Amino acid sequence: MHNPEFNENTNSEQTQNDSFNSIEPEEKQDSFEDQQTQETLRKSATKTDDDEFYHNEVPGYIKGRTKFVFVMGTVISGLGKGVFSSSLAKLLQNKGFTVEPMKIEGYLNIDSGTLNPFRHGEVFVLDDGLETDMDLGTYERLLSKNLTRENYLTSGQIFMAVLTKERQGGYLGKDIQVIPHVTGEIKTRFRQLAVQKHADIVFVEVGGTVGDLENSHYLEAIREFAYEEGRENCCFVALTYVIKPNALGEQKSKAAQHGIKKLMSRGIQPDVIAIRADDPVGLKVRQKISINSNVPVERVVSMHDVDSIYKIPKLLHNAGIDKYVCEMLGFSCPITFARDEKWERFLSQIESQEGELVIGITGKYTQIRDAYASLIHALQHATTACGRKLRIKWIETTEIELGQRSVESELVDVAGIVVPGGFGTRGVEGKIACVKYAREKGMPYLGLCYGFQMAVVEYARNVCGLTGAHSTEVTISTPHKVIDILPEQKKIEGLGGNMRLGGRDVEVSVGSFAYSLYGNRDTVRERFRHRYEVDPKYISTLEEHGLVFSGKAPGQPIMQILELPQSVHPFFIGVQYHPEFISRPTEVHPLFLGFVKACLRKI
Ligand code: GLN
Repeated sequence: MHNPEFNENTNSEQTQNDSFNSIEPEEKQDSFEDQQTQETLRKSATKTDDDEFYHNEVPGYIKGRTKFVFVMGTVISGLGKGVFSSSLAKLLQNKGFTVEPMKIEGYLNIDSGTLNPFRHGEVFVLDDGLETDMDLGTYERLLSKNLTRENYLTSGQIFMAVLTKERQGGYLGKDIQVIPHVTGEIKTRFRQLAVQKHADIVFVEVGGTVGDLENSHYLEAIREFAYEEGRENCCFVALTYVIKPNALGEQKSKAAQHGIKKLMSRGIQPDVIAIRADDPVGLKVRQKISINSNVPVERVVSMHDVDSIYKIPKLLHNAGIDKYVCEMLGFSCPITFARDEKWERFLSQIESQEGELVIGITGKYTQIRDAYASLIHALQHATTACGRKLRIKWIETTEIELGQRSVESELVDVAGIVVPGGFGTRGVEGKIACVKYAREKGMPYLGLCYGFQMAVVEYARNVCGLTGAHSTEVTISTPHKVIDILPEQKKIEGLGGNMRLGGRDVEVSVGSFAYSLYGNRDTVRERFRHRYEVDPKYISTLEEHGLVFSGKAPGQPIMQILELPQSVHPFFIGVQYHPEFISRPTEVHPLFLGFVKACLRKI
C-alpha cells in the first residue's frame, strides 16, 4: 500500500561518477568472500572525489515511497522503547501498511551472540540465525512476523563494513570520516531495508538514549537522512521519562525537558513525544514539555504503566499517537483502531484471567527477568489462553546444589517446572535434581535446550545406570559423555555467531506425544542455538530404557525432542531448540500450551 502523493524522484547525487574513485566492481567481486561486502563496495562506485557527498546507490530505492519513523529515547534507557515502537508499528500495520522495524545499537559487537543476558537481557535468535537484542523478540511477537538480519544493526556491523571497504580500496584517495562515510553506511542500511522488505513504513528504534556518545553517529545519520528524504517522509518520536520523587509526591519534568533539548541540539525536532511514567501524566507536565520542545501539547502524550505490555497498542491509539504519526507522514488514514479479531480475543482473555498458575523456572540469572523474556512471554501466552494468570517461582539451583535448600521444599508449590536454555556449569547439579524430582513425581516438565540436555543426563544416570554421566560442557572427566560437542562445532575456533543457530526443520515421529501436541504435523520448524548434542552412541541405551526421541534433524543423528510416553508420565518433554522464540500472543506455541494444560490437570 503506497501513498499516491509520494514523490518518485530519485536522488540526483547518485548518478555522478568518477574514474579515480570508482572501482571495477566486476573485477573485484571474485576475491571477496563476504557477499555483503561485495554489494557495499559495488555501490560505492558512484561518488566523485571533488564533492563532499557520499551516497551509496541502493538499487530499487525510490525516494518517498517508504516513510520512516524514528524512535529515540531520552533521560534513561530501559523505558520500554522496544515495546513502544513495536506497539506503534502494530497500529500502523493494523491500518494495512507493510511495516518493518530496525533496531539500531550503539555498541561495537557485531551481534548479541556474546552478550551476557545478565547485563543485556536475553539473546534472541532470528530464523536466519542472527543473534540479536531481545527487542527483536518484542517486534516479532507484536507484529506476528519473522524478522531477518536486516532488521538489526549495530555500530560493530557499520564499522566492520566501512573498514572492510577501506581495505578493498573502496574509498581510494579519501580520508574516511564519520560524516559522510559512517553516516552514509547507516543511511544505506535504512534504504536497503525499505527495498528488501517492500516496506511502506520503516520504524527505526535507536537503542540507549540520545545523550549516549555511541549514538552520536546514528543521530547524525538520522538528521542527514531526513534532510535527504524530505521532512514529510520522516517522523521523529521521542520517548521520555517523567519522575515522581517520593519526597515530593508530584511529577517532575525537568529531566525530560533537558533530554528533549539534547535531541533538538542534534538537529532533530521531535514531532511526537511520548512520556513514560508510573501514573498518567497530567496536563501541566505535558504543557511544560510542549513549550520546551515546540511540540503541540496534544502530541505530547502519556504512556504510563499498564499491567500488560499487550495493552500498549490500545493505550497509544487512545492517546492518538498513530493518528499524529500518520498526519506527520502525510497519510490520510482511518483513525479508528482497525479490528484485529485474534488480537482482541487475546486482550479479552487477559482481562478474564482467573486464578494463578505457579510455574517453577530454574535458572542462572534468576534475578534478571529480561534474561528469560521470551520464555516468560511464551508461558504467559499459554496461561492466558487457559484463563490463568502466570506466577513464576524462580528456582536458584545453586542453592539446591549447595544443600542450602531441598528440591522438595522448592518444588512443592509449583504446578510444573521449566529448565530453560543455559551455558556453563553453575547450578547444574541443582537442575539435574529438579529434573529427577519432576520425572519421579509425575510433575509436568519442559526442558528447553540445556533443559533437554540435562534431562538426558538425569535419565542416563538414574534410569540407565550410567553413573556420573554428564555433558562435556560441564566436565570431560566422565566415562559417559552422553552430551558432547556437535561434530560440526569441533573445528570452530572463537566465539560469536558460530553455534548451530537459527530456524531448522525437526522431523517429528508420527504417533508420538510431541506429534499430537503439534497437531499431527510430522515436520515443524524451530529455532536453535547450541553447541552440544546427545552423543549418538548413547541413543539406543537411552531408548532401551524407555526414553523416546520423538524429534530428529532430517538426515542427521541429532536428537531434537525427547519425551516419556504418557502412560508413564503426564508431561515430560525436552527439546534441543527454543520454542519460546516463536510463540506469539495469537499463535501460542503448542508445546507451551500442552505444558500449561498438563500443569492445570495436576492442580
Ligand atoms: N549450552 C548448551 C549448548 O551449547 C545449551 C545451549 C542453550 O541452552 N541455548 O549446547
